[in-house]
Amino acid sequence: MTFQDLNLNTPLYNALDDLGFTTPTPIQEESFSVVASGKDVVGIAQTGTGKTLAYMLPILRNLKYSRQDNPRVLVLVPTRELVVQVVSEIEKFSKYINNRVLGVYGGTNINTQKQAVAQGQDIIVATPGRLYDLAVSRVLQLKSIQKLVIDEVDVMLDLGFRHQLMNIFDILPQRRQNIMFSATMTKDVDELITDFFTNPTKISIAVSGTPLENIKQERYDVPNFYTKVNLLEYLLHDKEEFSRVLIFVAYKKMADRLFNQLEELFPSESCVIHSNKTQNYRLRSIEQFREGENRLLVATDVMARGLDIEGVSHVINFDTPDYPENYMHRIGRTGRAEKQGHTILMSTDKEKEGLERIEELMQMKIETLEIPESVEVSTELIEEERPQIRERNNPIKRSDADAPGPAFHEKSEKNSKENLGGSYKFKIAAKYKKPKTRGDKNYNRRNKK
Ligand code: AMP
Repeated sequence: MTFQDLNLNTPLYNALDDLGFTTPTPIQEESFSVVASGKDVVGIAQTGTGKTLAYMLPILRNLKYSRQDNPRVLVLVPTRELVVQVVSEIEKFSKYINNRVLGVYGGTNINTQKQAVAQGQDIIVATPGRLYDLAVSRVLQLKSIQKLVIDEVDVMLDLGFRHQLMNIFDILPQRRQNIMFSATMTKDVDELITDFFTNPTKISIAVSGTPLENIKQERYDVPNFYTKVNLLEYLLHDKEEFSRVLIFVAYKKMADRLFNQLEELFPSESCVIHSNKTQNYRLRSIEQFREGENRLLVATDVMARGLDIEGVSHVINFDTPDYPENYMHRIGRTGRAEKQGHTILMSTDKEKEGLERIEELMQMKIETLEIPESVEVSTELIEEERPQIRERNNPIKRSDADAPGPAFHEKSEKNSKENLGGSYKFKIAAKYKKPKTRGDKNYNRRNKK
């Protein structure tokens, strides 16, 4: 397929010619007609696959010239670097189109941005916080937005932008097209899709690009967290074989928990990255792992995307991903450049469904190994593994597994009341002698002393 097969227009063809682009990438090929159709779309694609052009090409194709001041397309991205990058891409493709594109992000003078907005724009590329501030100040009117693109949704949610996004959804016109792109599918992304999107078409380019022949895959059935730690300890003792090990977990709390265990077992050999760590901390961890200073790196899926590290001897899936695509991304970190890679997957009973999905996607079974006899099978359970009393009638209550930690400051005295549950109500009632029921007007009189 060439770009000629897509129904573009002369200005776009000329811009693509200038850039020397001749063939659409797989995600571009798949996205074009769906995005152009106006339906909600969720695209799973990593940076470097040409995803920006995948959503921009059909948008630019259909964006008519207009003199109105209010923007019609809004692109939200998680970082200011990405704002700059996306704006520059759009400008390249718009070389022969008369449109106005503006990038806005926090940490810079808002007044300069207000002036730029006031001049009238067609496309706004923004980080969520700054966009909201501009909208609240009323300089930026969102009532004409027809298309909302959210790029790198996984990173956006991982950085804690969910609330900001919801605030923005509230002030956008109801009738609009939603286009989301994410490198990985996570629980958070899935929830956002179900909560806010109407039947989106999912486009996912085949992950079959992962060269499975190069990767030896093995798995263990392991009953719980502490047994997983024991098995990991057993394996990692072979420092020659397990020379550079990337260990994946699904969420931040688990990453910290595992990192603490590893610090005790193998002091100064491990590092950790997830989105609650500062950028500097993350960069340092990655560097130490890359340089071989640290043998073990614990990472969450979202933070490890884009990681390009040579010579990873083993990828250990400390948990079994719910989404098989994540497994493919994880194991693709080993067995690079013709080298034989090695990956180990650990699954509890609860994780068996995830395992089935992975094997189904790969159309193959992963070889199962017995837990070595010297590995102690623990009966101790972590919080998440203990039987839980489920709260009923509250389907939207989210698990607190990945909730932000407690605030840094101590609570002031007046705010530090204990939650006494039901009994508190009775205490208060007794203290103030409130009627027991609305109709019981004689309650106070009866109880007067
Ligand atoms: P992205 O995944 O959007 O970050 O794009 C990765 C890089 O590939 C960018 O520098 C694009 O300009 C470039 N690119 C996008 N589409 C194509 C294409 N069809 N042919 C050649 N290069 C492309």
